[in-house]
Amino acid sequence: MPKAKHCEAVRVVVRCRPISRSEETADCEDILQIDDRLGQITLKKPKAPPDEPRKVFTFDSVYGWDSNQGDIYDDAVRPLVDSVLRGFNGTIFAYGQTGTGKTHTMQGVSNDPQMRGVIPNSFQHIFTHISRTQNQKYLVRSSYLEIYQEDIRDLLCKDNRKLELKEHPDCGVYVKDLSSVVTKNAAEIEHVMNIGSQSRSVGFTNMNERSSRSHAIFVITVECSEIGPDGEDHIRVGKLNMVDLAGSERQSKTGAKGQRLKEAAKINLSLSALGNVISALVDGKSSHVPYRDSKLTRLLQDSLGGNAKTVMIATVGPSHKHFDESLATLRYANRAK
Ligand code: ADP
Ligand code: MG
Repeated sequence: MPKAKHCEAVRVVVRCRPISRSEETADCEDILQIDDRLGQITLKKPKAPPDEPRKVFTFDSVYGWDSNQGDIYDDAVRPLVDSVLRGFNGTIFAYGQTGTGKTHTMQGVSNDPQMRGVIPNSFQHIFTHISRTQNQKYLVRSSYLEIYQEDIRDLLCKDNRKLELKEHPDCGVYVKDLSSVVTKNAAEIEHVMNIGSQSRSVGFTNMNERSSRSHAIFVITVECSEIGPDGEDHIRVGKLNMVDLAGSERQSKTGAKGQRLKEAAKINLSLSALGNVISALVDGKSSHVPYRDSKLTRLLQDSLGGNAKTVMIATVGPSHKHFDESLATLRYANRAK
């Protein structure tokens, strides 16, 4: 029986991006078929004969190329953020090969209301909720950090030093000296996000390369205080983590050597540690959840499992050229259900 309960806590959805212009001109074969009613996605092997069995996967939801940002938010994310507003922790991940739409899904295009991603939509959601409540006082704080090669850096702080992960008997695992910014409305927190996103790209020769190799985590802590029937002040705290994961592509195949290969091993380490943690939680049978295996899972320990909710958004592209990676992404996501 505990299984059903655990499953509720973890939702896994898949989003397929449209064919890009360059794929269109390169004659790409669309190998994905989606049944959004059944939550099924079918992967066709490139140039396979019509009668060859296809790989079929079922998820909580599957979104096709024409899905819009608002639908993804309302359908997959809003219930989790509602539970954060009630004082629970939650984590949203975007997982997938580089170029499949993780950043598009999490961040989107900030100056286009239709194209805003999960992170800015959560700002609107949280502050709209706050503006409608009475008799409660809220404090919203945010942090933005990056894990690159198992090193943690503060994206809201100019100096680029590595931060340490610490553990405290009362407050659990935390990042020492990480900045935390109090914001009073959606515009202010959006400004915080923009500063962090910019610093993700500063000082590195190739921004795409770096962002495809690092995990970026936007953390919002919502503290609510209310005078209870007993006349005492009651405080509840919910934490929302929104994670744009490093690209899931297997680096060994890209011919990485030396430093690059070492880096690749570390990226894959956190992604496989995350997969192991989520599958242990979903399984519900294992008494040991291997949080300690990576910085990412240690940091998110209090927001994965227990009362916390998790949404994994796996992103895939439609091209036959990426059959192997798309299959690997769907398998990874499938383990998390
Ligand atoms: P990733 O962060 O996974 O590397 P990006 O989010 O940068 O991928 O997406 C790669 C490209 O595809 C970008 O130009 C982005 O705008 C576009 N794209 C991704 N997903 C979608 C989508 N669902 N609809 C339209 N364009 C998309
Ligand atoms: Mg990206």
